[in-house]
Amino acid sequence: MIIGIDDTDSNEGMCTTYLGALLLEELQAFGEVEKPPLLVRLNPTIPHKTRGNAAVALRLETCCPEKVMDHVISRIEEFARFECEKTNPGAVFIQENEGKRLKPVLRAFLEKAVRDVITIEEAKNLILELEIPSKSFKNGRGLIGALAACGAMLNREDWDHTYEHLAYRQREKWGTPRSVEKESLEEADRQTYPETWDTLDHANSLVVCVPHSPDPVLFGIRGKSPETVTKAASLVRAEPTERFAVYRTNQGTDMHILPVESVEEIRDMHSYRVEGTVSATPETIHGGHVIFSLRDKAGAELDCAAFEPTKNFRELVRELLPGDRVVLFGSVNSRTLNIEKIEIKELALLYTEENPKCPTCGKHMKSTGQGQGFRCRKCRTQAPSKVSCEMERTLEPGLYEVPPCARRHLAKPLVREKRSDYRIFPSR
Ligand code: ATP
Repeated sequence: MIIGIDDTDSNEGMCTTYLGALLLEELQAFGEVEKPPLLVRLNPTIPHKTRGNAAVALRLETCCPEKVMDHVISRIEEFARFECEKTNPGAVFIQENEGKRLKPVLRAFLEKAVRDVITIEEAKNLILELEIPSKSFKNGRGLIGALAACGAMLNREDWDHTYEHLAYRQREKWGTPRSVEKESLEEADRQTYPETWDTLDHANSLVVCVPHSPDPVLFGIRGKSPETVTKAASLVRAEPTERFAVYRTNQGTDMHILPVESVEEIRDMHSYRVEGTVSATPETIHGGHVIFSLRDKAGAELDCAAFEPTKNFRELVRELLPGDRVVLFGSVNSRTLNIEKIEIKELALLYTEENPKCPTCGKHMKSTGQGQGFRCRKCRTQAPSKVSCEMERTLEPGLYEVPPCARRHLAKPLVREKRSDYRIFPSR
């Protein structure tokens, strides 16, 4: 049986991944639970999300599906933050013998949930039409994520994936400041990077893997394999934990990105890869955000931004100049692309005028007076006018990304990039 759950938390507490970790243990009473469970990140632009728009899927072999459903529902009733207007839990249950029939349709649903916007009615209608057992609370929006998570489990061999080791706090500590030794995170990072990533943000001196919200997560280590995230987690010295889970996830895969040829195709609440030419010098506006305009082949323009939370990435963006050819990756809201990654394909050639160089000694000549040309004082060589020369650019073509502290869960970090046709500048 496959179980998808979503939308149990609020800004004041809980986390659907905690419920997943709890059920991973408890459902063993009803059968054999498959590891790893799935943590699926959905469209990052959805306004209803609490934090990272996550949903969870578990799979188990059981001979008592009714009991499993009752148990999952009772745990949602116990843990979900119903008092929050934004918490609308949903759970979906798929019997093993239904897998083949539901696989393609739920694959399409998953892809839509990651890249597009889905209405609650759409999810409810699909559930009715396909006769899928489910349980929803309040407006039932969580059914969207729960269905998508089941789609991910049914098609789990078909999508790129990474892993996350999530450690959870003891219940009496929830909502209090977390205690994690920074030196141990540095050691874990030193021993396992680049097989793990986003534990720390060295450039901005920040710890990235320890959240600040009142949810049950103590820390999360992201990486390439269950072994590497487990090794890194074993090096962390911190307050005692209640439990942990290693999730297989679509985090760090760029699954949300839609490639587009033209700016005209771009819509709010979607994420894109779009190529164009910088058409206006980047400007720093109130709040420290850096914005510029991108022009596509057809001449259509799009506002692009490196917002203040992207910290040192803004320095790179400020160096762009009109005429630079770039490919941008990012989510669009209010007709503005929030840059996650940038590939600088070609830098515009800029020219400046300077005094000519002496052909004998190579030094710059001096002016001999207005309209009277230039002369080398030492060699006595002469030239009639200034010469045009190419200005040096501080930027280099290649792939760049926002720092770990500003990374979107779904954004593929450059440490995972296999391309060899471009220089890659992973942020750390
Ligand atoms: P949680 O830990 O509870 O999962 P979260 O930050 O992941 O917290 P949710 O509380 O799950 O966010 O809120 C996101 C809501 O948006 C869920 O109800 C989910 O079903 C819904 N949702 C997810 N993807 C889409 C989508 N593509 N279109 C519309 N709604 C979506």
